[in-house]
Amino acid sequence: MTAAREHGSEGIGLYRTEFLYLKSKELPSEEELFHDYREVAEIIAPEPVTIRTLDLGADKFVSGHEIDREANPALGLRAIRFCLKEPEIFKRQLRAILRASFYGKVQLMFPMISGLQELLDAKEIMGQVKDELNREKIEYDRAIKVGIMIEIPSAVTMAEVLAQHVDFFSIGTNDLIQYALAIDRVNEHVAYMYQPFHPALIRMIQQVVNAARDAGISVSVCGEMAGDPFCVCILLSLGINELSMNARAIPIIKKIIRTISIEEVRADFENVMRLSTAKEVQAHVSNRMKTLVPELAEKGYLEGWDYL
Ligand code: PEP
Ligand code: MG
Repeated sequence: MTAAREHGSEGIGLYRTEFLYLKSKELPSEEELFHDYREVAEIIAPEPVTIRTLDLGADKFVSGHEIDREANPALGLRAIRFCLKEPEIFKRQLRAILRASFYGKVQLMFPMISGLQELLDAKEIMGQVKDELNREKIEYDRAIKVGIMIEIPSAVTMAEVLAQHVDFFSIGTNDLIQYALAIDRVNEHVAYMYQPFHPALIRMIQQVVNAARDAGISVSVCGEMAGDPFCVCILLSLGINELSMNARAIPIIKKIIRTISIEEVRADFENVMRLSTAKEVQAHVSNRMKTLVPELAEKGYLEGWDYL
């Protein structure tokens, strides 16, 4: 957290909450969760922190809680699916997040939403938790913003509908690439196919940005792509103006954003949408980066990004 601030962050765009669930055999208590979230909220205030509800399953398992061994864990009972199946675990976390929201600027985000019903179910449980807190006269931010991660292709297709029910979108590029291109993100044999410049991905991001803009909600990008110097101009040209990244990536990304002009980037990248292969997009980006940020290219900052 302090590293993020020292590197020049404005808030925390993605606070992952799996750690407390993975570190011991017992599930964390509401108090333990509350203290953790309150501490982050207080340290980051007045900037916002976006706390993501549990994204367990796939490669992250809860030691104290049995999830059957699954043949395809990335497609299995993970994240919001697990939470909806285990409402008591979910409610405990929601109570802790809501209580912490009183001590700073907290936003709440659901991961792995695949369609509207799942979102409505999650919001329904959140409504029950709010009712409980109201009855118990426990304070929380009643105007807390609720958003979802867009990281499953079906959510991209439904973005227009989903946008009517949330305050913000955050595009999770790690998973969106995995699910859109059907490649396991932890399988080294298909690592070569992990292509942030794939035209399908660029079109998907464009579709989500358009849906968010039409509904008047904000949209950010997280995942490795958001902190990648080679991807930043494409993301800006698509209309993204919020990025959430690893603290170490912040200085170079800020430097690039300060060096370029948005009009220039938009004009330069106008043709990207017409390119048909990841190879063409990457070649275009490499060329453009050299002219857009020559100083960084000369210093060798932009070397070593070799996807294809
Ligand atoms: C993502 O999927 O892009 C993301 C940020 O979440 P995680 O890497 O935790 O799945
Ligand atoms: Mg994800």
